[in-house]
Amino acid sequence: MLNIGFIGLGNMGLPMALNLVKAGYTVRVFDLVADSITQAVDAGAVAAESALDAAAEADVVISMLPAGHHVRALYVNGDAPLFDRMKPTAIAIDSSTIDAKTARDVSEAAASRGLAFVDAPVSGGTAGAAAGTLSFLCGASAEHFNAVEPILSVMGKNIFHAGGPGAGQIAKACNNMLLAVLMSGTCEALNMGIKAGLDPAVLSDIMRQSSGGNWALNVYNPVPGVMESAPASKGYAGGFMTDLMVKDLGLAMDLSQQLNAPVPMGSQARALFSMHKAKGNGTLDFSSVLSLYQDAD
Ligand code: NAD
Repeated sequence: MLNIGFIGLGNMGLPMALNLVKAGYTVRVFDLVADSITQAVDAGAVAAESALDAAAEADVVISMLPAGHHVRALYVNGDAPLFDRMKPTAIAIDSSTIDAKTARDVSEAAASRGLAFVDAPVSGGTAGAAAGTLSFLCGASAEHFNAVEPILSVMGKNIFHAGGPGAGQIAKACNNMLLAVLMSGTCEALNMGIKAGLDPAVLSDIMRQSSGGNWALNVYNPVPGVMESAPASKGYAGGFMTDLMVKDLGLAMDLSQQLNAPVPMGSQARALFSMHKAKGNGTLDFSSVLSLYQDAD
């Protein structure tokens, strides 16, 4: 069985690492927060003293970190870069959501040392991480993608090969920009109908089964009480934080600028979610953007 080093045991990383433990892999884990390591060890992982300690003897290294500069420092230019010490046959998988340029740079740094690196950001949120049903959007050569697919299948249901290095991050930015547009549009339409006196559940059902149907209406209704399982019905707790959506929209805007690809709807969505964050809602689920449209009580 392969040895896995897992770095970054936050809301996503911890449940992902635990699915690997459950599948029988030896998983050496590290996080800057000691309590997260303890939680993983209690579930059967092995504690590492540093990221290097987690990665040095690993066949597969997986990272799940906040942003691009964390990933670059971890592998390439930090105090103890993993690429200087990983086994020559090891493969690194970064599942953080970061900019495509950093992913490509880190991939090139790996290749120059004869190592393999795959960008594999995820979709599916904390619930998908716990259930092992994430989607992985991979950027890598076909050879490296084939090498990591079995491991990713332990943590996810849909494993996509988006293209070469960086392509996974580009697919992620495109998807989340579209999600932001769909969610804000859904909030806009529902708020108008509710103000006109319609029952939100009835209107949601009509639009869900008509030409306005979309993912937000299907599984993530933003109006409290309409869908029991949605974050809206749980005080907008859990789910996908507004802060993270704003971060992802920033990545999408950077990409649109680099490519000169117009994204007027994405820009508008970014303005809405940034305003929602500025009003103090950064830690609430992103579907709480509905409140921007509503009259104050
Ligand atoms: P998080 O903030 O909960 O976890 C990040 C973890 O990384 C923290 O535990 C932190 O201590 C650790 N960390 C930071 N720097 C480190 C270092 N140098 N060495 C070791 N550990 C370090 O974030 P999260 O929600 O788990 O998200 C992780 C990534 O996944 C982000 O890029 C995010 O955008 C992406 N993502 C999150 C979700 C979600 O719903 N939360 C969904 C899809 C993608």
